[in-house]
Amino acid sequence: MNSCKVIEQVVDKGLCIGCGLCVSACGDNTLKMELSEYGFLEPRQVNSCGPSCKGNCLSVCPFNPEPNNDVRTETELAKTFLKDSKKHNDSIGKYINTYAGFSNEHRANSSSGGVATYTLIELLTRKEIDYVISVKDVTASSAHYEYAISSTREELLQGAKTRYYPVTLAGVFDKVKELDGKFAIVGVPCFIKSVRLAQKVDPILKDKIKFLVGIICGGVKSTFFAEYLASKTGVSVSEYSKPEFRIKDESSSASDYSFGCLDKNNHQNTIKMKMVGDMWGTGLFKSNACDFCDDVSVELADISLGDAWIDPYRSEGLGTNVIVTRSLLAEDIIQKGIESNKLTIEELSLTRFIDSQRGGFNHRHNGLGFRIKKRRNEGLSVPPKRFERDELTFLLKLIHLMRMRIRQKSLKVWKETKNAEQFDREMQFSLNVLKKLTKLNQYQKRYSESGAIRALIMRKVNKVFK
Ligand SMILES: Cc1cc2nc3c(=O)[nH]c(=O)nc-3n(C[C@H](O)[C@H](O)[C@H](O)COP(=O)(O)OP(=O)(O)OC[C@H]3O[C@@H](n4cnc5c(N)ncnc54)[C@H](O)[C@@H]3O)c2cc1C
Ligand code: SF4
Ligand code: SF4
Repeated sequence: MNSCKVIEQVVDKGLCIGCGLCVSACGDNTLKMELSEYGFLEPRQVNSCGPSCKGNCLSVCPFNPEPNNDVRTETELAKTFLKDSKKHNDSIGKYINTYAGFSNEHRANSSSGGVATYTLIELLTRKEIDYVISVKDVTASSAHYEYAISSTREELLQGAKTRYYPVTLAGVFDKVKELDGKFAIVGVPCFIKSVRLAQKVDPILKDKIKFLVGIICGGVKSTFFAEYLASKTGVSVSEYSKPEFRIKDESSSASDYSFGCLDKNNHQNTIKMKMVGDMWGTGLFKSNACDFCDDVSVELADISLGDAWIDPYRSEGLGTNVIVTRSLLAEDIIQKGIESNKLTIEELSLTRFIDSQRGGFNHRHNGLGFRIKKRRNEGLSVPPKRFERDELTFLLKLIHLMRMRIRQKSLKVWKETKNAEQFDREMQFSLNVLKKLTKLNQYQKRYSESGAIRALIMRKVNKVFK
């Protein structure tokens, strides 16, 4: 069987994120999405590439190692798709405005402030679109969650809340061409990029996909993440169902949410995430591709939504969104929502927006150059990236190295143990080393900051007495 380009150049090189658009772009039944041994969705080659193969699979892939110049990075693609955005910032790309707030109606039943659900319902009500492709609960399948189509408010409401679980657009994306009408699609940055790449290749998709809702993302988790959390609640991996990743505590802070799942008797077992430990800054159960992603704020979406991890918003247990508008339609939805009192939203400065995603920017922009260098030293290629400078201190290099090790080790250890207690024992040493290095880095930063302030005061004092 002759080898498919996307398998050879992306999947086999460990950079697939599972968006599934290569499967749709191929159209020749050459590829099929399957769960990998480490719980990630990836395409598998099931047939030989046909004589008519034009390599479309690679041209829609967000991790294509050699894209054409006009789609080289998010910056070039934004020039085609975000003509309404007049402002530009190196960290967040093209934009119209930045906000923080929530939907008065949908906040309680959402992950954050419910602005994603509000925006999608508004698009349907205004008849801007006919269908929404979002991630929904699929009780009939062992997958728990899948991308599915909604055309009514009721159907759409089943798709509220974010699921830290692998999902793919393969299959459902074909409906864009099959059905009459306009579409909105919800996705994390790399999925939104693959949709834009598909729109660039195919004018029908450019016309039919009217709006993209971007979900700010700190990394996709393997199915092992949900299994591990189920095991932490005391439910066996083979018996858990309906994982809920963001159960809010109204009386506490936004970050004090719980994971919950049903056991075999349909009883919900829950655990506070703060009892589990840091699941995001450590790299646990994360995809390798995420370590080579530099789009923190979904630069190619019409609207980008995340959590407001800054004061005063983070003290509100019901959750608050940070919002970036990048098209006039998105801006109008927010403005009209404020005017009609459906949205409680205020403007947020760009600096405060960036502060709300500080961890994401530190890891994905500042740390990327080091990881790229390391990967190239191993003889592996990296798609073009905009943050290639490696300026990390020795200590930060160790921290990034440790995160990479923990990511890899967590997948191997869970595959063998499938039991939270045993897993915690085997991961403890590495996680402790990372914790100590991180503490040391915080001390070093504080010390150098106070050193810089001391030097500044001394300079001022010297000036006065000169
Ligand atoms: C994998 C992942 C990582 C994230 N990391 C961060 C982060 O680092 N920082 C941050 O600020 N925010 C992060 N978020 C986003 C955050 O959890 C909220 O989703 C976001 O603030 C929108 O909240 P909302 O209340 O407006 O959404 P809701 O109104 O609850 O709607 C959520 C929407 O997201 C869709 N959705 C659910 N799961 C997925 C999925 N896996 N992929 C694509 N779409 C999905 C739903 O179908 C729904 O349309 C992450 C989300 C995901 C899925
Ligand atoms: S990232 Fe998407 S397009 Fe690229 S190989 Fe994986 S599934 Fe295919
Ligand atoms: S971190 Fe980047 S590559 Fe990973 S899932 Fe999120 S958007 Fe995709």
